[in-house]
Amino acid sequence: MAELRIDNLSKTFKGGVEALKGISMHVADREAVFLLGPSGAGKTTTVRLVSGLEDASGGVITIGGQDVTGWSPRERNVAMVYDKHSLFPHLTVFENLAYPLRNRKLSETAIRDRIAQVTEVLQVETLVDRYPSQLSGGQMQRIAIGRALVRDAQVFLLDEPISHLDAQLRARMRVEFKRLQREFDATMLYVSHDQLEAMTMADRIVLIKEGRVEQVAPPQDMYDRPATLFAATFVGEPAMNVLPARIRTEGGKASIALGGSELDVDAHWLTRGSQLSPEKRYLAGFRPQQVSLAQADSGAEGTLNGRVFAVEAMGSRYVFDVEVASEAGAAIVRVMTSVDEARRYTQSINAPIGIKIDFDFVYLFDADTGSTVRQANFTNQTVQ
Ligand code: ATP
Repeated sequence: MAELRIDNLSKTFKGGVEALKGISMHVADREAVFLLGPSGAGKTTTVRLVSGLEDASGGVITIGGQDVTGWSPRERNVAMVYDKHSLFPHLTVFENLAYPLRNRKLSETAIRDRIAQVTEVLQVETLVDRYPSQLSGGQMQRIAIGRALVRDAQVFLLDEPISHLDAQLRARMRVEFKRLQREFDATMLYVSHDQLEAMTMADRIVLIKEGRVEQVAPPQDMYDRPATLFAATFVGEPAMNVLPARIRTEGGKASIALGGSELDVDAHWLTRGSQLSPEKRYLAGFRPQQVSLAQADSGAEGTLNGRVFAVEAMGSRYVFDVEVASEAGAAIVRVMTSVDEARRYTQSINAPIGIKIDFDFVYLFDADTGSTVRQANFTNQTVQ
């Protein structure tokens, strides 16, 4: 078993930068866990501590049940792949792949077998006699990954291994990675700041922000039931719309002040949130895919009035940026529509247009703490 566990890990660099403020998480045997977060969140620091390249200021790291916190990188049996190409330029692909195995004093036959297996999976058998300078960027990166995989390490650490590749190659590598991870039964901790990468490849995502764990969940759960405003807006593309909101309740009727309008809501809708109060400030969140366009000033229930700010045609879809009134003056709400629907509405800049909100898809966040106080209904989940 190659389970990786991190308990209350902290790291303060010389000069006082507190990069990690007590991170706890685990990667189960053969699981692919993604450390996702914005620049500076502490992702690279976490994997450098796991690999042993950096010493922890506090906390415990165990691999396969053994406390490795004080061990040297060599003793830990972890393999690391970086963003940068890390191949030796003077060695052929074969020798690059053989290097970590020779270091481990494997027999020549065992080395050949292992390399044959890895190059087949990576589909680079024909490249073994080339030098790195004779490879494309994508091929080089695949070999760099291969060099980590040949090692039979207990845990694989990947720090943005495909982030510098072009979009098309990245898309292909995403699929390949998933396949490789399954074929090698690898236990992987993968660093990324790209939510799409994490959504498509992770078994679970550990979202970190400013050196702390924000939420741990499988990708779809994080998307459907974000624990915080930060999780809600970090995961999903285009990002979730967020508008200041206030709740009103009078004589058994309920409404929500949102985007310059007062929209009636089912009183039942309010009771699904735990402690909603008319005195508190909230932020309402809804995804661009989960609202639709409406005719301007139709007065239809649940419709905000706005103006077309910009329209982006994306081939199979359109995104309308609609300006609505807000406490701060004005705010942009993004609406993603099909091409057919987009054609039924005005695309003239500044023309009045409506946005139909379906309250089953609306989240509420505490404006002061950022925590989710009301999850959307569509998954039939209430706030835990
Ligand atoms: P990115 O996505 O930009 O790589 P990250 O999430 O990997 O970001 P880290 O590289 O782990 O972030 O950095 C976390 C924090 O620690 C940052 O504030 C960074 O400036 C700081 N930091 C990292 N390495 C050092 C160092 N050697 N000395 C001092 N501060 C450091």
